[in-house]
Amino acid sequence: MESGKIFIHTNGTEVSTKTKELLSQKLEQNGYSVIGSFSQEAELIVCIGGDGAFLEAIHLFEFPHIPFIGINTGHLGFFQEISPDQLDDFIFNYKMGKYRLQPLATVKASILLKDGSTVNYKSLNEIIIKATDSRCIHLNISIDSGFIERFSGDGLLIATPAGSTAYNYALGGSIVDPRIKLLQVTPMAPMNTTAYRSFTSSLLLPSDLSLEIKPEEPETSRLVIACDGLEYGLSKVENISIGFSGTVVNLLRFESYDFWSKVKSKFL
Ligand code: NAP
Ligand code: MN
Repeated sequence: MESGKIFIHTNGTEVSTKTKELLSQKLEQNGYSVIGSFSQEAELIVCIGGDGAFLEAIHLFEFPHIPFIGINTGHLGFFQEISPDQLDDFIFNYKMGKYRLQPLATVKASILLKDGSTVNYKSLNEIIIKATDSRCIHLNISIDSGFIERFSGDGLLIATPAGSTAYNYALGGSIVDPRIKLLQVTPMAPMNTTAYRSFTSSLLLPSDLSLEIKPEEPETSRLVIACDGLEYGLSKVENISIGFSGTVVNLLRFESYDFWSKVKSKFL
């Protein structure tokens, strides 16, 4: 029988590299083959580092359907399931099939430029739309084709349930149980003056609603889109359409995993 192929991605720190070496040995001893470069033939992707290493791998390998497992090496590690001292338990449970997959929905932005061309972005945590050069941005927001508000402030963050505990939470957004599929539109420093009026709390949208964002001309036609921390500059943006993408990222979770225990242990 051909042995299962496993790919290991690390953030390159000394402890992550050491953990990778040790894990590779243990996996080989257990009949797996650790492959040197990413391939769609892998049955599992191991990410060693913090959440950043996991997010980096997702974007680098273009949101593969292959399950991920994270090993946390000294960061917050919200996505990360195990620590470097649990390698044997991990291999045992994995071999025995004692795990389940946690599907995490991703968000996409389809951007229409003035010349008629389109650009698409995908994120696991969030998509942020903000001005360039620390300026204020003005965005006209519609939900299901109905105009809702003209937002003025630093920008808008649209978080998935998985991303609700990241930047969204730091901005005062709510923590969402990943079993609820909703998008959270969180304002970043909304302005409320006699000149500008914006919602100051997050808006929670059901998964099938369409969200359209139109930058106001001319000063905000240049803007920045940030996807899980990766920034892209765009100019002459006509419309931004946001919604869930069809892509799901699968995380391996073991029997002891519980979302709210994890929230408690990482935040309180
Ligand atoms: P980073 O600057 O190291 O990330 C900031 C922190 O967010 C790290 O502690 C990271 O965990 C944590 N994090 C990432 N995803 C999370 C999640 N879903 N739930 C809870 N915490 C999470 O950059 P990074 O590691 O490449 O991560 C990119 C993310 O950073 C972005 O998607 C954004 O959400 C977040 N961010 C947060 C702020 C803020 O809170 N003010 C500002 C900018 C960006 P690790 O330590 O395990 O990496
Ligand atoms: Mn990080």
